[in-house]
Amino acid sequence: MATFNPRSRPSHPAGTATIALYRISQAIGHLLRARGEAAQLSPAQIHGLLFLRFARPGVRTIGGLAQRLSATYATASGVADALERKELVKRSPHPTDARTVTLDLTGKGEREAEGLDNLLDDVGSAITALPEADQAALVRATQAIVRRLQEAGHVQVYEMCWGCQLFRRDAHPDDPRGPHHCAFVDAPLPEPNTYLECPDFVPANN
Ligand code: SF4
Repeated sequence: MATFNPRSRPSHPAGTATIALYRISQAIGHLLRARGEAAQLSPAQIHGLLFLRFARPGVRTIGGLAQRLSATYATASGVADALERKELVKRSPHPTDARTVTLDLTGKGEREAEGLDNLLDDVGSAITALPEADQAALVRATQAIVRRLQEAGHVQVYEMCWGCQLFRRDAHPDDPRGPHHCAFVDAPLPEPNTYLECPDFVPANN
C-alpha cells in the first residue's frame, strides 16, 4: 500500500500520505541538525535536553534516556557524558536506589533547553496556514495514526498526567507530598509534576 516507488503513489491515498509524513520527518530531522550545528549539539543531545526538561522526575536516568532515544544504554550514557562535558547536565545519586544515577539539567542546560522551544515553528506555521477544518482533520488523523503505531510498538508516547487512565485527581488533597495520585507508581503527585511528560502514560479513553 505505502511504497517509495513514485509511480505507485497517485492511486493510493495511504501511500501518498505516508510519503508526505516521511518528508515531514525528514524536515524535522533537518531542523534538528540545523539547530544542532548552530548550538554545537548533536540531534541526540537535543533530544536529551528536551527529555530532561520535560520528563517526570522518576525517569530522568540513563535508562530513561535510552528509552526516549530508542538507543542502547551505552549510547545514552555517551550522550549524557557529552552533555555533562558541556556543563549542560549533571549526574547525581538516585535518592532511593544507589545503583541508579539521576540526570538533571544545570542552569546552563535549562537555558539551552528553553532556547529549543521554537525548534519546530516552521512545521507549526505550515499547519497554521491550513483552513481550520483541515487543521482539525489533521489532528484527528495524526492522533489516530500515532495510536496505531504506538500499539504496534513503533513509538512510545510521552504525555502528561491529565489525560492518563492512571491519574487520580485530588485523591488525597491534604497530603503534603501532593494532592493527586499516580496508580502506576502508586505514589502521590505534586501539581507541577502532573504537567511533565511520562512514558507510562495510558490514554484515558482506551
Ligand atoms: S502513569 Fe499516568 S498518572 Fe502516572 S505519572 Fe505517568 S502520566 Fe502521570
